[in-house]
Amino acid sequence: MLNKDEIKDFFLLEYSHAKKELGQNFLIDEKVINEIVSSLSTTEKEEVLEIGPGLGALTGELIKKNINLTAVEYDQKLVNFLNNCYSKNTNLTVIKGNFLHYKDYKFEKIIGNLPYYITTEIIEHIIKHFNNFKEGVFMVQNEALSRLLFLKGKDYNALNVVINYAYNIKKLFLVSKNSFFPVPNVDSIVFKMTIKEGFDHKFNLALLKVSKTLFKLRRKTIYNNFKTMINDDETIKKVIQNCSLKQNMRAEELSVNDFINLTKELLNLKIISL
Ligand code: SAM
Repeated sequence: MLNKDEIKDFFLLEYSHAKKELGQNFLIDEKVINEIVSSLSTTEKEEVLEIGPGLGALTGELIKKNINLTAVEYDQKLVNFLNNCYSKNTNLTVIKGNFLHYKDYKFEKIIGNLPYYITTEIIEHIIKHFNNFKEGVFMVQNEALSRLLFLKGKDYNALNVVINYAYNIKKLFLVSKNSFFPVPNVDSIVFKMTIKEGFDHKFNLALLKVSKTLFKLRRKTIYNNFKTMINDDETIKKVIQNCSLKQNMRAEELSVNDFINLTKELLNLKIISL
């Protein structure tokens, strides 16, 4: 871990500064770093993915765990720094890239102090594209986690339906904004995300698709939103009725179970497939 002065020195040497637009707030609290890293369960030689390694606060501890770590970092300067710093560590691969364009099925475990400006997009990307994902330990801004968990009101959305259905979310601990440099505006939280028993990746994707269709225009009824998925009005009415719902309902009035029932009904009628 670099301390506050070393981080300042790094940016002075690079004639640059931490990029706010990339959510660059680096962890400088050793206790927090150790707690985050030890929260991820790993086995020897396991392939683990880190999102946004930055200046290596978590990376340095993770590679001590005797795992094979791949770390995806967007900022070339930080990639160069990590490659120099850890050139002798054969169990670390640093990839320069945008995590939102990165896919690799092999990873079951993912960890990261996430860049706050794309927290939701990162979680959605993992859900959609990491078919074998089983466990993640993530640090995000406090409100960002609350927003992912709402099942009512304006923040209730398709992603929240899927998270509630398929994953256990366990809040682990709060992290003061003073544990970072530069100091962000708000405190953060670390949480663990694990798949629930009976997890089915393909069904999950179907559920996400149906929920997104119904939440597409929030003010419209589920009947109207279904028109973008189903051509025939009578079929829409039948699907809604078979799930004991009303045509004039809006997506935010539906429970997670309602979305599950609708997905099953659409699969039965072969309107969508897995
Ligand atoms: N892991 C480090 C730590 O805890 O000190 C840095 C965490 S910092 C909150 C987020 C990191 O994600 C930064 O290093 C930033 O450059 C990187 N980042 C931002 N957008 C990214 C993206 N789209 N793909 C990959 N990394 C990204």
